[in-house]
Amino acid sequence: MKPPEQLKLFNFARKELIFSGEYQIMDFPELEKIASNKTDKVKVALAFSFENNRTPCLSGIISLSIAISCQRCLEDIVQDLKIDFNLGFIKNENQGVGLDSRFELYVTEDEELSTVELISDEVLLAIPMVPLHDYDCATYKDTEQVVEQEKQNPFAILKNIQIADEGEE
Ligand SMILES: [Zn+2]
Repeated sequence: MKPPEQLKLFNFARKELIFSGEYQIMDFPELEKIASNKTDKVKVALAFSFENNRTPCLSGIISLSIAISCQRCLEDIVQDLKIDFNLGFIKNENQGVGLDSRFELYVTEDEELSTVELISDEVLLAIPMVPLHDYDCATYKDTEQVVEQEKQNPFAILKNIQIADEGEE
């Protein structure tokens, strides 16, 4: 069953509901803004549980490949993400006491949360604030010129060797 638009925290947790579904990146406005592969898939699985008889919790997995711009050269960087998260929904910090430490505390007064916003937030947390290529992409073109110059060098070296050989005879 695909997750509904709104997640009813207590209701779903008491029933221990499980959802899974496939979206496209463009279904998430915050992700659509930064991604160039807008029609690619986002796979989502969500499992609710009610912990300690009082705390609604949500464990989920989100998997997607997202193409975002490198902040240095503006070319795409494709990030393959598989995001596992465990959230414990509480109204104040005190309610988190005794909750298994695998759950990250999520303080909210709301009884319902938007599925799209929650998933977007988890994906945004997994993406670097300033995405950059691993290699030194900004100087890539300069590097190409250097390589071209070096291509001429073997001939120069060869000449030197021949001269040296002649000299020895
Ligand atoms: Zn780059």
